Amino acid sequence: MAAARPVRVRIAPSPTGDPHVGTAYIALFNYVFARKTGGKFVLRIEDTDQTRARADSEGMIFDALRWVGLTWDEGPDVGGPHAPYRQSERRQHYVDHAKLLLESGAAYRCFCTEDRLAKLRVQQQAEKRTSGYDRQCRGLDPAAGRDRAAGGEAHVVRLKMPLEGPITFKDQLRGEVVRQATEFQDQVLLKSDGLPTYHLANVVDDHLMEISHVIRAEEWISTTGIHVVLYAAFGWEPPEFIHMPLLRNPDKDKTKISKRKNPVSINYYRDSGYLPQALLNFLGTMGWSFGGDREKFTLAEMIEAFAWERVSLGAPVFDLKKLTWLNEQYIHEMSLDELAERFIAWRLNKDYLVKLLPLAQKRIKKLDELIPLTEYFFSGDLDYTPLHAEMGVPEVTPVDVSKALLAFVERFEAREGWSTEMIEQEMTAWTEAVGWKVSHAKGLIRVAVTGRKSSPELSAVMAALGKEISRRRLRKAAEYIASGGKAKQ
Ligand code: GLU
Repeated sequence: MAAARPVRVRIAPSPTGDPHVGTAYIALFNYVFARKTGGKFVLRIEDTDQTRARADSEGMIFDALRWVGLTWDEGPDVGGPHAPYRQSERRQHYVDHAKLLLESGAAYRCFCTEDRLAKLRVQQQAEKRTSGYDRQCRGLDPAAGRDRAAGGEAHVVRLKMPLEGPITFKDQLRGEVVRQATEFQDQVLLKSDGLPTYHLANVVDDHLMEISHVIRAEEWISTTGIHVVLYAAFGWEPPEFIHMPLLRNPDKDKTKISKRKNPVSINYYRDSGYLPQALLNFLGTMGWSFGGDREKFTLAEMIEAFAWERVSLGAPVFDLKKLTWLNEQYIHEMSLDELAERFIAWRLNKDYLVKLLPLAQKRIKKLDELIPLTEYFFSGDLDYTPLHAEMGVPEVTPVDVSKALLAFVERFEAREGWSTEMIEQEMTAWTEAVGWKVSHAKGLIRVAVTGRKSSPELSAVMAALGKEISRRRLRKAAEYIASGGKAKQ
């Protein structure tokens, strides 16, 4: 019986970008459940999609989760009985398991070329049919397939999904979830480069790591059907599934939280002066209720009171007003000693000062000039109203100026790291792309980022300010300009 298994839960982030608040949200519920039940909490890095992996992402995930106050019992950096915990180091497991499925007939080799699949897609579109793989290789003789593979012919391994009937699984929050076999394709398990897809690696690892409960975001529900077919094909007992409601933007459609509407990087919340315990508390109120109308609680209190029955499936709104309110409560109640420590951990520390001082040293005569000179390095969103006249570009409509600023922000999304050189490169490329005078282009970014008409070298300022605060101000300035100066600051 699944209930008798010792509790082992995990988060399995893919290191594809900045550490996401959604990861902290799901980590929190896994952590709380593990602590409540005396179970283990595992961190596994799902980095098999080499095209999307970013080298700096994994370390940022570790740092960000530790910053909010969550720790894991097993993981790539702390080890554990099921090491390694990074999927890129576990390739052989996936190859071996795909082989098992080929031998039992639950999977097959598919030799269809990219070219054939592309033509198939075009044809399906032209005939207005649902697109997807037509299972041409499903009927191939397995022995012939084995020979072709042995001869070096490129192929993928696909799962034989049932062709009809319902595929069902139990979600602890929703009860029985029923999907139809016709909604699924014969999912690729192993790609032609020998690397697994998310589905194979995820299921194999959850099994080998003896995960008892898969607690993850709702967006994965739609493919859980593939996972239960895989568990059955291996003859394994599936874990319990618990899909947490997705965080939503506070807009009227309650869309899935997105960086265009809300900062989603945990580092933004750290750099803009939120306290880790307030952020964690806030995430604990997303979809879960403490009881009564109590909103403020510590992690220990959440563990004490935790029960899945208190999760509601309504769309939890990631409302910064509520987070700020909670943050305020924590600040007001904190001892002065603790508050002083928080300021030091935030930006009143040597690490941050040494980033600023090269920009300030030659501009001051006395120490007391530092704070007025560098005030925008310590403040949050800026008030652009007094600078309204500076935020235009001759012969360009405000809407286009705003779009151009957003395009500038987008340039950083795909790039790793954050340095003066990289910002300089992007700024030059962007200035050329928009075709404005350098003084106009830089002037606009300067006002957006510093709220001033003059500043030290912009790329150095942005580098010191950090990626999160720089991006936030650029987006806010774009919003302000697009609204013709009416957007709330
Ligand atoms: N690698 C997936 C992610 O990025 C894991 C999803 C799951 O928890 O199964 O979130």
